[in-house]
Amino acid sequence: MTALFLSALLLSSGIRLWLSLRQAAHVRGHRDAVPVEFAGGIDLASHQKAADYTLAKGRHGRFDLAWGLVWVLLLTLGGGLQLMHDTVSTVFDPTGLWHGIALFGLLSVSGFLWELPGSLYYTFSLEARFGFNKTTAALFLSDLAKSTLISVLIGAPLLWCVLWLMRSMGAHWWIWTWGVLIAFNLAAMVIYPVFIAPLFNKFEPLKDEALAARVTQLLSRCGFRAKGLFVMDGSRRSGHGNAYFTGFGAAKRIVFYDTLLETLNPDEVEAVLAHELGHFKHRHIVQRVAVFALLSFILFALLGWLGQQDAFFNGLGVSSRSEALTLILFSLLLAPFTFPLTPLMSYWSRKHEFEADAYAVAHARADDLVSALVKLYRDNASTLTPDPLHSLFYDSHPPAAIRIAHLKAAA
Ligand SMILES: [Zn+2]
Repeated sequence: MTALFLSALLLSSGIRLWLSLRQAAHVRGHRDAVPVEFAGGIDLASHQKAADYTLAKGRHGRFDLAWGLVWVLLLTLGGGLQLMHDTVSTVFDPTGLWHGIALFGLLSVSGFLWELPGSLYYTFSLEARFGFNKTTAALFLSDLAKSTLISVLIGAPLLWCVLWLMRSMGAHWWIWTWGVLIAFNLAAMVIYPVFIAPLFNKFEPLKDEALAARVTQLLSRCGFRAKGLFVMDGSRRSGHGNAYFTGFGAAKRIVFYDTLLETLNPDEVEAVLAHELGHFKHRHIVQRVAVFALLSFILFALLGWLGQQDAFFNGLGVSSRSEALTLILFSLLLAPFTFPLTPLMSYWSRKHEFEADAYAVAHARADDLVSALVKLYRDNASTLTPDPLHSLFYDSHPPAAIRIAHLKAAA
């Protein structure tokens, strides 16, 4: 088990490092000239900013990769998890469910502290250097306090329930646990936009009447009913812009980031929204949920089997046994072993983007979507010249040049 785990971990990290270095080399190689197809919309300074931003994020990503690798090795083969288990045992009865909850708590706090330097650097140095960070120290702390409180209020009872099922449901506990987690995820999709998102951002009805009228027209043209149009103060934290849908059935709402409305003209907003409607009409979200349910069913079956194998614990540096340890070790295994799925999921997502673009072209104007995309690439400093292999592996959206060529061909 140790050898298998180490090989998967090192192989997946090696591939990620190699792809990241390829991306850096490609972006650096194309830094000096704006690609011809963007020559009108993007000036050299913006292009170079995007290259520098991509390179800086890549460097940070490689640091994160190494830092995360050290953490996983410390926890497993380094005996960190066993040490945490023993520490918690000095306070809680190691056979009780509270022991498991305390172990998860200790692991979360230490994992958070381990990642803190990296995330502080990312938000307050890297993002700030490129003018994207709007988060103040006070906002960072209040976000942290709120999200901690929510994780404790929601996470602890959920975890208790899962640990109890693992203990009480016999050999098929994993089917029960899977069912509970799927139900929880569906509930979260309903609860999050209405109760949790407003704790972090302000949502106000769209005031621009002319724009609201156009959006309403687009919606009725597409046979789509929504509960409301909202503007979110995304600019409180970051300069990156976006638009999205949340909710189900008649409770659907459309949310625009204020940063998006500042950048795009009404034609472009309409085209972006038509693209988002395309995702809805093609049932991309439903498909995603279904695939997630199926994949997690397979993973839980695997977890049910692994939890009975001594080699699973011993090979990963843990001599004690508990429900919580089973879950934690499995979650550490997950990343290296599901890594080969990354390019498949990315491919699938890019296919959805093409379908949504085709829908947008049918219900709004392709030229407007193109000019909206060019503005968004420019303002988000997204690179126009990704390494093809890196893009094939990771990109959830088609590369700018290919996507725009498709749109222009459809216009
Ligand atoms: Zn999309």
